[in-house]
Amino acid sequence: RAKHSGRNRYVMYEASMSKQVRQQLDMETSLRQAVALEALELHFQPKVDCASGKYLGAEALLRWPQPDGRYIAPAEFIPLAERTGLIIPIGDLVLEASCKMLRQCLDSGLQPCSIAVNISLKQFRGRSAALEQSISTALSRWHVPPQLLSLEITESALMENPAEAAASLNNIRATGITIAIDDFGTGFSNMMQLSQLPIDILKIDTSFTHSLGDNTPGNQVIRSVIELAHRLKLKTVAEGVETEQQWQILKDMGCDHLQGYLFSRPLKDEDFIQWLQEHGAQD
Ligand code: C2E
Ligand code: MG
Ligand code: MG
Ligand code: MG
Repeated sequence: RAKHSGRNRYVMYEASMSKQVRQQLDMETSLRQAVALEALELHFQPKVDCASGKYLGAEALLRWPQPDGRYIAPAEFIPLAERTGLIIPIGDLVLEASCKMLRQCLDSGLQPCSIAVNISLKQFRGRSAALEQSISTALSRWHVPPQLLSLEITESALMENPAEAAASLNNIRATGITIAIDDFGTGFSNMMQLSQLPIDILKIDTSFTHSLGDNTPGNQVIRSVIELAHRLKLKTVAEGVETEQQWQILKDMGCDHLQGYLFSRPLKDEDFIQWLQEHGAQD
């Protein structure tokens, strides 16, 4: 190995860098096209009431369909969208498609309860008036009451500048939209600041849910998080619930809502509607 160090390794490094840069540029170009052609899909993952297992609402999750029929996951293109500013038109499309789905459910007598939309820091930082405008445009175009819409913002995004986040969210929340703090437990929240944020729901991250088991230390952490949330008058949602055992433990802990493959994977439009029909989510 040592023989190949020095110049050779440097050249290889440089070649692979430019390949990576080229791939990034190609991906940016295709993402731009996908946005222009409205080719991104929005899937919906049902959320249920923890105590009863009854349907409560859904989270909207982006998917980027490829010519071979597969999807690129959001973790692979959201960061690119954020870097290039494409997250702004993409975010507007997500709001639009979510309100359209809410309207479709309302019209067909299916109970949509609510749809939660993920919002990036880039979408509200320094442009909260524009975000408010996008939200109210989508709601009024589809005649959807704001109470049916929820926004999910990650703990890390909120904590970058809690004061600024609080100011933008206060206006949005005043309209009746609910705010959830997403991926809770993956950042390092200042609990004082957390208690002062205008939020309604705390989403316990998948990694916590997966740590649940027989008397694991994870159990104690989650139990405390749920208690803390309830003291702060927040509802709790556990993400990534995959087993009956996780459901049972979360039920014993008094968690409010659940989301995960145990109940359903994220579903495309027509499959989501069918799921709602099969699960008796009627008005
Ligand atoms: P998130 O908001 O925390 O979404 C939950 C993620 O957990 C989703 O991944 C979902 O498919 C996955 N999940 C649901 N149930 C289970 C389960 O039982 N087990 C496991 N292992 N995973 C489960 P997904 O769809 O790949 O999305 C990843 C992240 O991308 C989201 O995390 C969100 O931060 C971001 N994202 C997705 N759609 C949007 C969007 O429209 N706008 C923005 N800004 N971000 C988005
Ligand atoms: Mg989310
Ligand atoms: Mg999450
Ligand atoms: Mg996440």
